[in-house]
Amino acid sequence: MTRHYNFCAGPAALPVAVLERAREELLDYQGRGLSVMEMSHRSDEFIAIAECAEADFRQLLGVPSNYKVLFLQGGASMQFAMLPMNLLGQGGSANFIQTGIWGKKALSEAKRLGFSCNVAASSEPNGHMAVPGLEAIQVSDDAAYLHYTSNETIGGLEFDYTPHVQRADGANVPLVCDMSSNILSGPIDVADFGVIYAGAQKNIGPAGLTLVVVRDDLVGHVTQGTPSLFDYQMLAEAGSMVNTPPTYAWYLAGLVFEWLKEDIGGLAAMDAINQRKADKLYAAIDASEFYSNPIAQANRSRMNVPFVLADAALDKAFLQQADAAGLLNLKGHRSVGGMRASLYNAVPESAVDALIAFMADFEQTRG
Ligand SMILES: *Cc1c(COP(=O)(O)O)cnc(C)c1O
Repeated sequence: MTRHYNFCAGPAALPVAVLERAREELLDYQGRGLSVMEMSHRSDEFIAIAECAEADFRQLLGVPSNYKVLFLQGGASMQFAMLPMNLLGQGGSANFIQTGIWGKKALSEAKRLGFSCNVAASSEPNGHMAVPGLEAIQVSDDAAYLHYTSNETIGGLEFDYTPHVQRADGANVPLVCDMSSNILSGPIDVADFGVIYAGAQKNIGPAGLTLVVVRDDLVGHVTQGTPSLFDYQMLAEAGSMVNTPPTYAWYLAGLVFEWLKEDIGGLAAMDAINQRKADKLYAAIDASEFYSNPIAQANRSRMNVPFVLADAALDKAFLQQADAAGLLNLKGHRSVGGMRASLYNAVPESAVDALIAFMADFEQTRG
């Protein structure tokens, strides 16, 4: 058996150590004679798995005790609807910083549900090549929260600062952040945020699980008509088990958290590895006449590196040869074309080295 290097944007690579552990425990979880998939979510065994995963996640990210951590389904996209339903129950409007396709979807969904929305800043005028500066963010007088996407997975655009803003009346506006593609890539200060959410399939675990971290004061004010499964308060009170949670994905996420803690040594160590990986790939792109990435230096994503070839007619050959060399899923998103290498936590530095060597080789023979 050979494991290839997987640069998929999502569902993405998982740590080999995690997959091996899951394989070991697949048929007989810790001598209980059944797999985690076949357990009741109310059983002592599963409750222990669930609690341990939450405790490890809280420790890794430094989640303060006045925040709930929810393990949900529906993907990050379902949060596009759940957020305004939970946060606009006391009125006001949803504000958005637009830096790409995911932020746009979050705005469209809030609009579709009839909520009052305001675009507080947008990088559309510069083609999403640089994030708006703090001074450019204009929230509405009735802003109940400000939503942004810390890393736009498709464009490869990442915030290099946390956009704290005040309303005209001086009130702080709770920040709501879609961290689907860069959560756990390095340390953050959770206290900066009202809500953090992320689909699991990039940096947390397999698809089917979504993590929501929400500050206590933002829970319990849903808009009328919000389904119970959309209500953060009901979900929190039930320990994310209003109905059957995605048990196996929750278990695998727990293994990933353990791997981050034990094997990697925590988020500061992960941060340094991610920085090294991204730095060397961008350096290789910048040093070549054949490959290019147009994003402003300060906002280049460490997780998703889009690049184009000088001659797009060679795209197909590049992808075919990369695949044959064991470098998988380098095709750019269908909306932008070109290439994209996603360098999530579970993509080892050796994968980046192999990619850089392949790119140099391809340039020499075909460029
Ligand atoms: C992948 C992604 C999403 C969508 O996630 P789903 O879980 O498929 O809904 C949303 N936002 C960002 C930033 C993403 O990377």
